[in-house]
Amino acid sequence: MKTRLLGMNPEELRKVAAEAALPKFAAGQMARWLYVKKVRDINQMTDISKEGRARLSEKYEVGVSAWTDCRISSDGTKKYLFPVEGIFGRGSSAAGRTEKAAVEAVMIPDKDRATLCVSSQSGCRMGCHFCMTGRQGFHGHLSAADIMSQFIAADESDMLTNAVFMGMGEPLDNYDNVMRAIEILTAPWGFAWSPKRITLSTIGVLPALRRYLDESRCHLAVSLHNPFSDERLSVMPVEKTWPIRDVVELIRQYDFSGQRRVSFEYTMFSGFNDTKRHADALIRLLSGLECRVNLIRFHKIPDFPYGTSPDVIMENFRDRLGRAGITATIRTSRGEDILAACGMLAGKHRTLQDRETDNEI
Ligand code: SF4
Repeated sequence: MKTRLLGMNPEELRKVAAEAALPKFAAGQMARWLYVKKVRDINQMTDISKEGRARLSEKYEVGVSAWTDCRISSDGTKKYLFPVEGIFGRGSSAAGRTEKAAVEAVMIPDKDRATLCVSSQSGCRMGCHFCMTGRQGFHGHLSAADIMSQFIAADESDMLTNAVFMGMGEPLDNYDNVMRAIEILTAPWGFAWSPKRITLSTIGVLPALRRYLDESRCHLAVSLHNPFSDERLSVMPVEKTWPIRDVVELIRQYDFSGQRRVSFEYTMFSGFNDTKRHADALIRLLSGLECRVNLIRFHKIPDFPYGTSPDVIMENFRDRLGRAGITATIRTSRGEDILAACGMLAGKHRTLQDRETDNEI
C-alpha cells in the first residue's frame, strides 16, 4: 500500500523530496499541487521532472478518496459518502480488522456561503444517547488525508467558504489529525483560509479543548444541551469526566470579545431541557460570557424517549435568554429529508423515506 502525500505539511514533504532525490524546492511544488491545484495523481505535478514523478510514484500516491454516493436535499443541502479504508484499529479496540467503513460530509449552501460539515472519526466513542453516530459505536480515527479528502473531493471544493467540524465523531478525540487538517486549511502553503472561516464543535473534551484554545484561532462551538449536571449526564456520558461547568470555566479564561467566537449548541428536547427552569440555569451558567446560543430542533431518532420541542416553546426559550442579554437563535434545520441534519449522520446512505419504510420512526 502506498503512502498518501495528502495530509503532509512542507516539513514532511521535504523528507519525501529528499528520499526521491528531488530538489528541496520540490516540497513547495508538491504542496501547491496538493492543496492549491488539488490534483489527484502524481503525474499531474508537471513541474516535477518525469523521472522524479516516477520515483515518487514508487512509494507514494496523492491519496484523495473520491466520494461514492451523494444525496441532494430539497433545500439544496448535499450529503457525500466517503469510504475509509483501513480505519479499524486506528485508536479503536478492533485493532487488526480491515473492513471498510464510511463517513459522511454535508455541504450546506446558504446565500453567498457554502459550508462543509466534515467528519473527524468513523463512528464515535462519546455515546451521546440522542445521536445516530454515537449509536453505531467507534470504528477509528480519520487521518488528516481522510479529512482533507472531504474538502477536495466535494463537487463544490473551489466554492467552499466555511468549514465546521460537526460531522461524525468528536474532533477533539482525534486532536492531531484534526489540527493537521486545520493547519492545511489555514496555512499560506495550503488553502490559506482565515481561521474565522472554521468552527470546531465539541462536547467538551477538556484537556484537548485547552490545547485547541491555545493552539488555534478558529471558532468554537460547545454542545451543551442541558445546564443541570445530573440531567446532562443522563444523555451525555462525557458529563461524568468533564462536567459542562468546568468546560465553561475554562472558556472564560480566553478572550472571545474580538474576532474569535464561541457558541453553545442546545438541542431542544420536549419536556427534558426546554423549561423556564432550564433557561434560567443556562443564563446563570453563561452569565457575563461573550457568546451566542444556537437552539437546535431535535430530529427524533428510534429508542430515545424525548421528542421535539414545539416551536412556541423554542421561541419562548429564545426570548427568555434574549431578555437576559444572551443572543440566541433558532437554527434552521437543513437536509432533514436526506438524514443530513444534526445528529442524523450514520455513515450509510439512506433517506428518511427508507427509514419510514422500515418503521423505524
Ligand atoms: Fe459523538 Fe458528537 Fe454524536 Fe456525541 S453528538 S456521540 S460527540 S458525534
